[in-house]
Amino acid sequence: MQTDAELVIIGAGIVGCSAAAALARRGWRDVVVLEQGPLFATGGSSSHAPGLVFQTNSSQTICQLAQASVAVYRDLDLDGQPCFASVGSLEIATTPERWADLHRRQEYAQSWGLVGALLTPAQAAAQLPLLDPAAILGAYFVATDGTCRAVRAAEALARQAIAAGVCFHGGVEVTDIVRARGAVCAVETSHGRIATRRVLLCAGIWGPRIGRMAGLPVALTPVQHQYVKTLPLAALAGEVREIGHPILRHQDARLYFRQHGACYGIGSYAHEPILTRAADIRRHDASAVMPSVMPFTPEHFAEPWLAARALLPALESIDASTAINGLFSFTPDGLPLVGESAQLSGFWVAEAVWVTQGAGVGEQVAEWMTSGSPTIDMRECNVNRFDAYAYTEAYIATRGAQQYREVYDIIHPLQQVAQLRPLRTSPFYCRQQSLGAHCFEARGWERPYWYETNRALLDGSEPTRSGWAAQGWSPIIHAEHRVARERVAMFDMTTLARCEIVGTDALALLQSLATNQIDRPLGSLIYTMLCDDRGGVLSDITVTRLADDRFWVAHNGPNDLAYLQIAARGAQVQVRDVTGGTCCIGLWGPQAAALLQSRCDDDLAQTNFPYLTGRKIAVGAIPVLALRVSYVGEAGWELYSSAEYGLALWDLLWEAGQQYGVIAAGRGAFESMRVEKGYRFYGNDIHTGYDPYAAGLGFAVKPKDRAFRGRDALVQIKAAGTTQQLCCLMLDDPTLVLLGKEPVFSSSQCVGYVTSATYGASVGRSIAYAYLPLALAAQGTPVEIAYFGVQYRATVVAEPVFDPAGARMRG
Ligand code: FAD
Repeated sequence: MQTDAELVIIGAGIVGCSAAAALARRGWRDVVVLEQGPLFATGGSSSHAPGLVFQTNSSQTICQLAQASVAVYRDLDLDGQPCFASVGSLEIATTPERWADLHRRQEYAQSWGLVGALLTPAQAAAQLPLLDPAAILGAYFVATDGTCRAVRAAEALARQAIAAGVCFHGGVEVTDIVRARGAVCAVETSHGRIATRRVLLCAGIWGPRIGRMAGLPVALTPVQHQYVKTLPLAALAGEVREIGHPILRHQDARLYFRQHGACYGIGSYAHEPILTRAADIRRHDASAVMPSVMPFTPEHFAEPWLAARALLPALESIDASTAINGLFSFTPDGLPLVGESAQLSGFWVAEAVWVTQGAGVGEQVAEWMTSGSPTIDMRECNVNRFDAYAYTEAYIATRGAQQYREVYDIIHPLQQVAQLRPLRTSPFYCRQQSLGAHCFEARGWERPYWYETNRALLDGSEPTRSGWAAQGWSPIIHAEHRVARERVAMFDMTTLARCEIVGTDALALLQSLATNQIDRPLGSLIYTMLCDDRGGVLSDITVTRLADDRFWVAHNGPNDLAYLQIAARGAQVQVRDVTGGTCCIGLWGPQAAALLQSRCDDDLAQTNFPYLTGRKIAVGAIPVLALRVSYVGEAGWELYSSAEYGLALWDLLWEAGQQYGVIAAGRGAFESMRVEKGYRFYGNDIHTGYDPYAAGLGFAVKPKDRAFRGRDALVQIKAAGTTQQLCCLMLDDPTLVLLGKEPVFSSSQCVGYVTSATYGASVGRSIAYAYLPLALAAQGTPVEIAYFGVQYRATVVAEPVFDPAGARMRG
């Protein structure tokens, strides 16, 4: 075995082999793949996965990764044996709620470029004759779904990598990750040391164990999952194909099915999660039992078996010798962990990945390691996306278990987590409680969405809602919106992530990443984007220059912090998270200036303290950093103080605000004011799939005489002209409020999807945003939006629909 390598990949399951092949395709040669088990039936999760591939997902990223995986698997064979069976899939509904949800799933799929169809029970039974049509209300069918033979695919991909020069070693266990000065420098193995500056962790359920060797938490928990095969079915006597039937999901009973020749396989999530610590997983030994397989627990399969037979009456009896509790990974949010750890240079991760996304993740991590950016927007899967609490064992176990329970649940976009709350609270929390705050969780924080005591503000003009749009909603949101526009409101902005960038290289760091000019006078507040090398938007942030070498940066969370910290490696600069130790009140509305001035000796007039500037002021006796900026379209400030002053600051403003009619307003009002004003929301309206020009943010790109990441691509995009544009749509029906991600149609063609949506209380209309091809971006263009199976009419309008001149911000 070699003693040094450019990259060591740990694990030769579907993910490790996919990554190795994808790296080899990109020219990587000096790569070693180490596998503790035998190659390629290694004994990991891939070795016993039945390999059902359902591509539909409410997450655009996960759906795109699945589509990319199918594109790889479909063309793979091993010695002439195909790796993928394109048999199609059926997801059936046995309840009206599920049937409605299947409409929504079909709509997501359309938004993400995947074709699916809704079938009647008879049509579904025609696809899968074992299905009892009387037991279902309908089905969602995707013709391009199917099954992947994971071990065969892994070996086929490994052969591609080996042909390009990559080395695979079975029976070699990684026993330690050697680090020096915050970077990987070697890997210890059962067969000696390999010096390397890069590791890619593809160890599946063993990930946390290796993370511990590297001093890093890997935020996943292995969970036991039941898979059982039947004895041969009389109904399939004489069947010679391994699989010809579509794969099947019965989510109302938490079951899935696939054909295995004359038998059927049944997977069940219908039991309380059984967690197993990575440290407790059996080691490889001489026994034939795979280390990732735990003893079957028949008591958990009794009810699922009844539900399975009710749906597929042809099932007769199970083959107890095949029944397993197999282990695979669950993360706190159910999504994979991909990317380079911000805490350890050279430590890359591709963990908690299903076979369904395996090849796609392999491609993306390879592209990321090669060119510096993935081609699919990976923010939801970024290994650095969690705040510190989410890396604790208690959180990983609790939330991982909940993800298992909910894996087939119908999840409303605003569905709230119940466990481990409250966890993070702002200093204003006790006051908010007494105002009847309805809090939603946001990155561990309790964030008020509306306040019950504001019910008194209702004037009867608020529209009503029904169905999904009524969940997580109150008419009070509209009243708070109205009062914030008419008087003044205090918004708790503590959840807004922020850091300080300090040091002699601070300006150079920001200048090298930001699309906007950061080198401006002290006190300037600059809105800028961070772009990748292709000109895609990695994030949008505001930067306030506090000193020559000190900047206050409001950003979009841990991914941004990690990105800045990785970029700062080796430079004379510190990127310090200050979110937890500080708090923030957004004081906005026509009376905000009068209110604040009543408790502040500094001259707050626009002439002295203009829009888009920041400075330290005293509010009463409280030192405050005041930034004159607004995300709701009203004049006012973000007022930051350190956390110990927070309660006093709230009380002081509250008391002073009484004569100005101040209210506390929640995130619901904030969000509807934002959309009405056309402010882009990172993750929804902008991400790496879009460039600033298409997003209407070209004003914050200043490429002249400056070099920064993404500059060349942006110059080219601008010169070539964009092909699409983020457009504002007004729905004909003012009472219908969309939730986001709905497909948009023109002439029956899906041309985009909804990125943000709200009811604009000031304009009295339902508003949505969507990227549309330029030909459809002109004002007055009619489009249709699908929502739970119904097409609704909307029209492209000039944006923003509220205060287009921005006069109120400068008032
Ligand atoms: P693995 O296949 O586990 O590979 C990790 C490898 O790392 C292992 O081979 C292991 O030996 C090696 N390794 C670990 N530690 C070390 C070390 N210290 N040194 C060297 N090597 C090491 N997904 C789907 O998409 N569709 C399905 O239908 C499906 N059904 C499933 C059914 C069951 C019963 C189970 C348990 C899982 C199922 N999954 C399914 C999930 C899927 O199997 C896994 O998510 C996927 O196989 C993980 O692939 P991987 O390469 O990350 O992990």
